[in-house]
Amino acid sequence: MSDSTPGFDTLAIHAGAQPDPTTGARATPIYQTTSFVFDDVDHAASLFGLQAFGNIYTRITNPTTAVLEERVAALEGGTAALAVASGHAAQLLTFHAIMTPGCNIVASKRMYGGTINQLNHSFKSFGWEVKWAEDLDAQSFADQIDENTRAVFIESLANPGGIVMDMQAISAVAKEAGIPLVVDNTMATPYLCQPIKYGADIVLHSLTKFMGGHGNSMGGAIVDAGTFDWAASGNYPMLTEPRPEYNGICLFETFGNIAFAICCRVLGLRDLGPAISPHNAFMLITGIETLALRMQKHCDNALQVAQFLQKHPAVSWVSYAGLSNDPFYMAHQKYCPKGAGAVFTFGLKGGYEAGVELVKALELFSHLANIGDTRSLVIHPASTTHRQLTDEHKIAAGAGPDVVRVSIGIEDAADIIADLKQALEKT
Ligand SMILES: *Cc1c(COP(=O)(O)O)cnc(C)c1O
Repeated sequence: MSDSTPGFDTLAIHAGAQPDPTTGARATPIYQTTSFVFDDVDHAASLFGLQAFGNIYTRITNPTTAVLEERVAALEGGTAALAVASGHAAQLLTFHAIMTPGCNIVASKRMYGGTINQLNHSFKSFGWEVKWAEDLDAQSFADQIDENTRAVFIESLANPGGIVMDMQAISAVAKEAGIPLVVDNTMATPYLCQPIKYGADIVLHSLTKFMGGHGNSMGGAIVDAGTFDWAASGNYPMLTEPRPEYNGICLFETFGNIAFAICCRVLGLRDLGPAISPHNAFMLITGIETLALRMQKHCDNALQVAQFLQKHPAVSWVSYAGLSNDPFYMAHQKYCPKGAGAVFTFGLKGGYEAGVELVKALELFSHLANIGDTRSLVIHPASTTHRQLTDEHKIAAGAGPDVVRVSIGIEDAADIIADLKQALEKT
């Protein structure tokens, strides 16, 4: 092999994996075991003391999961990664390492609904506050930052679809304040966008979505960019204070540019416990091997569907950054020129009733609350996920009565469009 850095498609297939040294198995084996035998007492002691890397127990490390971790880190251009049970577990462990009671996260209002709940309710019960940026521009984030802010949290391609965040400007604001920028890159995937290039210090994933890509396995990842100086402000004690259970070592001092990933593993995952199963890690590794092919097809299909919808008389608006008249078109050209993702929203002239009718009439689309499957998916938020909100709140959340959200699959574009066409006639 040449010594030049392999390209993205090569890394998606090979990063982190070798033929199994004992059996020669070429695909990554599923190490379906809870625990690993020590060589001897000294070996055990060095593993427990973090003086040597190795496997103890699958809650903390597992060889199948390690391949997934190396692969995701390579694709994002990070120094290390940690794979966990779900995207929400990745968020929990990230903020567990960063936050202390009374501190706050400055977050974008345009995020996955589950994330908004996690920040508004569960995190508050830990004493972690959230301050919502009023708008999507960098100044709106700067306006919310105070002396207790410990992180800025955004999505790269943002929910409920069609929004591309100005990561470079927001990262400049975070740097100025001496706090890390945490970017959820679930909807873009590293194929479309690598947030570390634009100043992200930590990249999060729900691997459940496009990364795994087949709607069959839950998983999450935390990628350490290795860029943030955790010691500069003295505000991140979990990374900088001596750990009594690990012979008094300070994680940042000992592990440097992989300290954040180590911290999430040896404190967060160890104590909070949301480990991914080796079987799910295997499913996600397999999915990632075709990421580039799938994402390109997802995006190409989504653009064709958005163009079709934009011209349809029953549709009042389409919010997709890939459309040349979209307000986020320029940001899409800058941050994710290969495609604007496959999740977007559109409005129906017939309002709430039309939304309900459309979902009923679609045949190829599955009506469910997920994104990033090979299959095309649809949801009418106002009658499902956002049902309990008042109309005013629904509109603020981008889930007004007329809004339909789609996640375009990798079927033939003509079949996806034909299904929408027949269903729109019934609205
Ligand atoms: C689904 C999703 C999550 C949560 O991930 P889970 O794997 O469902 O826990 C977080 N962020 C985004 C953008 C998502 O789409």
